[in-house]
Amino acid sequence: MAATHMPPDRTPRAAASVRLEDVCKSFGPIVAIDRISLEVPAGRLVTLLGPSGCGKTTTLRVIAGLEAPTRGRVFIGGEDVTPLPAAQRRVTMVFQSYALFPHLTVFENVAFGLRLLRQPEAEVRRRVEEALALVGLEGTEGRFPARLSGGQQQRVSLARALVMEPAVILFDEPLSNLDAKLRKHVRAEIRELQRRLGITAVYVTHDQAEALSLSDIIVVMHMGRVEQVGTPEELYRRPSNRFVADFIGEANLLPATYHRGEVVVATYRLPYQQEGITDGDWTLLVRPEAVRLDAGDEGLPGTVRTAAYLGVHIEYRIETPVGMLFAIGPADRAQVHPVGSRVTATFDVGGIYLLAR
Ligand code: ATP
Repeated sequence: MAATHMPPDRTPRAAASVRLEDVCKSFGPIVAIDRISLEVPAGRLVTLLGPSGCGKTTTLRVIAGLEAPTRGRVFIGGEDVTPLPAAQRRVTMVFQSYALFPHLTVFENVAFGLRLLRQPEAEVRRRVEEALALVGLEGTEGRFPARLSGGQQQRVSLARALVMEPAVILFDEPLSNLDAKLRKHVRAEIRELQRRLGITAVYVTHDQAEALSLSDIIVVMHMGRVEQVGTPEELYRRPSNRFVADFIGEANLLPATYHRGEVVVATYRLPYQQEGITDGDWTLLVRPEAVRLDAGDEGLPGTVRTAAYLGVHIEYRIETPVGMLFAIGPADRAQVHPVGSRVTATFDVGGIYLLAR
């Protein structure tokens, strides 16, 4: 999978779409998911993103057939699989814990599902070797999981999923046991492989950066429900509510009014158009990179409270009449604003968005 390594390309396996229709799942009095409907087109990677306990894993388990929904239907490749057991769904799952057998070699771990299906030995060998090549692990067949790095173990578990040639692969926080740098690397590999093989994937994470970087489509979940579905850019630029705005990326949420084509924040008036906006009270989302700081008179006045140098840029916290403003500015010396200095903030209209109060 690494860029230096060119595994064999192959025709896309029979990737299938996934559709949930009005799915609910309760555990006694606990409603884990509540009327979830969503569509995963064949060959795409869709992420379920949300805070702990919002129902992501339950949704994944319902797709896998490991939980029966209390209500609603699950379709894979257009077929209603709701009554089918997990083994008949052509779906495999990759877990955060890798779930590898410590006493089996890499080869036998990957071969495990094929052996259960009593596949002939030559077929097992061919498919295991092919799967290991896909994840860049040829030559490790005889090793035991404990002798591999975390990243390699996660690749073995990915190979074990690929070897079954599933119609859909489900990922349940597969990178949470890896350190930050490796996580970034392996997620890029997963994405590259998913694209190249045209696999349909549903990927669960609570990490918004992971979701933004990986997904064709993100489904933002909150308390068992879907808050918004969209491409990473749609969710970042046009979140449908405060929860999504705050959960995806960094967000300043400022009290504002809209009056005759202008957004008004304290004394700052900014010409702005947005579909469906009427005069009245709104919450203004301002992304930190849309904040410009200078010494002019026109804008939102403030005082720099913190300035954190991060190499590529500086992160500021500015105290303003409407609360603390988080801003990102250039680290170029000539443009740095020291702590305690008075500044005027203005906003790029490309990085702002009005939300219902
Ligand atoms: P996390 O990121 O922490 O894994 P999640 O978004 O995946 O969270 P779920 O694991 O789907 O959330 O859980 C959703 C809700 O359902 C939670 O309140 C959880 O406690 C509850 N729940 C999940 N599985 C069970 C179960 N087997 N029995 C009882 N309650 C459960």
